[in-house]
Amino acid sequence: MVTGCYARKKDSSLEKIKGVEFIPEIEKVAQILESELVYDAFFGRSRPFLKIQSGCDQFCSYCIIPFVRGPLKSVPLDAVIKLLEKIRNENFKEVVLTGIHIGKYGLDLNDGSKLSDVIEQAHKIVGRVRLGSLESHEITDEILMQASQNKILPHWHIPLQHGSDTVLKRMKRPYTAAQYRKSIEKIIEVTPPHTGFGTDIIAGFPGETETEFLESYNFVKSLPFSYGHVFPFSPREGTLAWTMEKTNGINPQIKKERAAILRDLFAEKHNEFRSSVKGVKLTAIIENELKSNLYSATTENYLSIEIKGSYSPKELVRAAI
Ligand code: SF4
Repeated sequence: MVTGCYARKKDSSLEKIKGVEFIPEIEKVAQILESELVYDAFFGRSRPFLKIQSGCDQFCSYCIIPFVRGPLKSVPLDAVIKLLEKIRNENFKEVVLTGIHIGKYGLDLNDGSKLSDVIEQAHKIVGRVRLGSLESHEITDEILMQASQNKILPHWHIPLQHGSDTVLKRMKRPYTAAQYRKSIEKIIEVTPPHTGFGTDIIAGFPGETETEFLESYNFVKSLPFSYGHVFPFSPREGTLAWTMEKTNGINPQIKKERAAILRDLFAEKHNEFRSSVKGVKLTAIIENELKSNLYSATTENYLSIEIKGSYSPKELVRAAI
């Protein structure tokens, strides 16, 4: 049996093997094996990742995920609660809620559960809750309320992908740059001044003109990002943008240059952010021992720092940056 992403891609070399069965839905394999799908959390050293959902139905024009991961599939809330209790019982102080598209958590469950319900439970059971990537248009009033009550750590990763409306439209992203900015502003209104914002950006999307690139650059520059992941556009076979690339692709050298310009900008912004929190006392979670009496740690607003002293992983420490 071949399952998951690989089954959805139907590799032709596997198709030739006698007896191979393609079953994309892992749940079905579990049924076939007469066992239940066991949801589990990834237990990192200090900050376990709890995957609360999988799949996506947004079909952004460049993205292969909806094709390979299939439709939305949320972990039922009672199963999430059991995992959160397991995390607490293992003495973890922080949980990271992750998934492919966590803003759509619960839509497939038809029982009214939402991401804000998971946040509420995670805060109650574990304490510190960090959100994985969350789409700007899915930050609800309930989530903002929870942020204002310090139930969510002051670190937000909100994928932008591009700062030009015309490119966002070609990417089939369901928001404009102005709407994205509004979402960031709403978070800023309710969270502490040292809140960290991260994002993802694509450079050299098919047809990206110099003007569109500059719009994107200036948009990024105008927002308080503390870090950003930059990807030079790379076409994925089977997506709409794969076809666009064939007819309107950007010269690879230009893509590379534009990506480098954006990376430099994010590096500058990261340094500015670090300087802005100099002297501020933040709570950090101890990660690894680097050498005797020196530990790596992650702050509440997602800065990597080093702390001298004698600690143990998972421990929370109040530190002046
Ligand atoms: S980029 Fe994100 S929202 Fe868009 S299709 Fe891919 S997984 Fe879904």
